[in-house]
Formats: sequence, C-alpha cells, structure tokens
Amino acid sequence: SLTGRDLHLSFGANKVLRGVDLQVDSGTTTTVIGPSGSGKSTLLRVLNRLHEPDCGDILLDGRSILKENPDRVRQRIGMVFQHFNLFPHKTVAENIMLGPRKLRGLSKAQARELALQQLDRVGLAGKADSRPGQLSGGQQQRVAIARALAMEPEVMFFDEATSALDPELVKGVLALMTDLARAGMTMVVVTHEMAFARSVSDSVLFMDRGAVVETGAPQELFDSPKTVRLQQFLSQVL
Ligand code: ATP
Ligand code: MG
Repeated sequence: SLTGRDLHLSFGANKVLRGVDLQVDSGTTTTVIGPSGSGKSTLLRVLNRLHEPDCGDILLDGRSILKENPDRVRQRIGMVFQHFNLFPHKTVAENIMLGPRKLRGLSKAQARELALQQLDRVGLAGKADSRPGQLSGGQQQRVAIARALAMEPEVMFFDEATSALDPELVKGVLALMTDLARAGMTMVVVTHEMAFARSVSDSVLFMDRGAVVETGAPQELFDSPKTVRLQQFLSQVL
C-alpha cells in the first residue's frame, strides 16, 4: 500500500500542495482528476521523491520512504509520463534493459530475457529490435510501460499517459492500463479520461488548488458530487 500524509509543498510563494492525504491499498487503482495546475503531477513527483515535500510523510508498505535513497524509491514506484522519453538511437529492447542492467544489476542476457517478457506483456512481442521512431505513439507508450514494469515496481504511476497520443491510439494504451489494473497492479493514474476513471478505478481523488477536495468510489464521485467545485469540474469535462 502507498500512503501520503499531510503533504505540503511550495514553490516560492506558490503553495502547490496544501496538506494532501491519500491511501492506495495494494492491488487497487486510484485515479487523480482535477483542473490544470491543481497539483496532480506535483503530487506524483512528491510521492516518488522527484520533489521533497516541505512536510508530511510517505509510506510504502507501512514504512516511511522519506529517508530511503530516492533512486531506490523510483525502482519501487514505476512512472509513465505523457512523453515517453525513449532513447531514439537505442533499440526497444535496449531501452527496457537499461534500468534493470544499471539499477538491478542484471546481466545482459538476463536483462534481454526480461525485456522480451515485458514486451510480450504489453503486446509488442516482435518489436524488440526496432527503434522507437519506427513505432507508433501508442506502441512507444507501451514500450515506456514495459520499461517501467521491467523494474518490477510495487506501484505504477501514470501521468496523463494518453494525452499526447492520437485519438485512435488512446484506446489501446487505456486497454493495457486496464489489464494491468485487473491483474492486481497497484496504480495511481492522473488522467482526463473520465470513462477510465469511472470504470477502472477503485477510488477517485479530485484535486483543486493543491488540496484533495473530494475522494471516494467512482460511482459516488461522478453520480453525486458533494462540492460545487467538483460539480463544476464534471460539467466541464463530461
Ligand atoms: P496539468 O493538468 O496542467 O498537468 P497539474 O494538476 O499536473 O496540471 P502541476 O503540474 O502539479 O499541475 O502544477 C501545479 C502548480 O505547481 C502550478 O501552479 C505550476 O506552475 C507549479 N509548478 C509545478 N512544477 C513546478 C516547478 N518545478 N517549479 C515551480 N513551480 C512549479
Ligand atoms: Mg500535470
């Protein structure tokens, strides 16, 4: 499980997180929704230690990770971004092998084997020796997901993983994320895909101006929002 407790972060005078709490039980998926600038990406970045919170605590499996080596934390929490950031001159397999080789100490043969397994898992068996530029955006995002999975993370974060994709490619990536969720991966998903939030997530967190304004089961949140702010947000996005 992943727990955030009273997380605060300011950039100068800009209070970006104002006491955020979250609880993601093992094997569940939480989606984070909210307007642009509400702090969704920053929350993920604090949780995986790309930013240090000004105060608060983060627990993974009941133990604080704030004193843990940030590199180690990023092995335990995989992250998939809007832009896939694959190395264009390396093959697909090499992109996936990099982390396991450097951070998990796997041999080249072991890492290659692992890369092939993960490519199979994301529906890209046969693309191991292609270059990223030879793949569609959706396929490249699957490679980025395979790369994160190859670290065998305890939790996966997705930050608008489908926002940069052509509309016809979005479906496939969402289907893969749905498969991962159903297979019991623990996930935190920042998304504008409300249908995904409603049908796949176990709980939804609505953020506005650095705070969690509402949280609960998707039916509850989407069908009977309690706050005017969530009502307004939903009327704009649904
Ligand atoms: P979007 O939906 O547009 O991605 P978001 O909810 O992910 O928005 P964040 O990217 O977390 O929002 O940004 C929240 C606030 O923090 C914004 O006001 C932004 O300008 C500010 N911010 C984010 N990163 C930094 C940074 N590295 N330095 C300074 N300010 C930042
Ligand atoms: Mg963002």
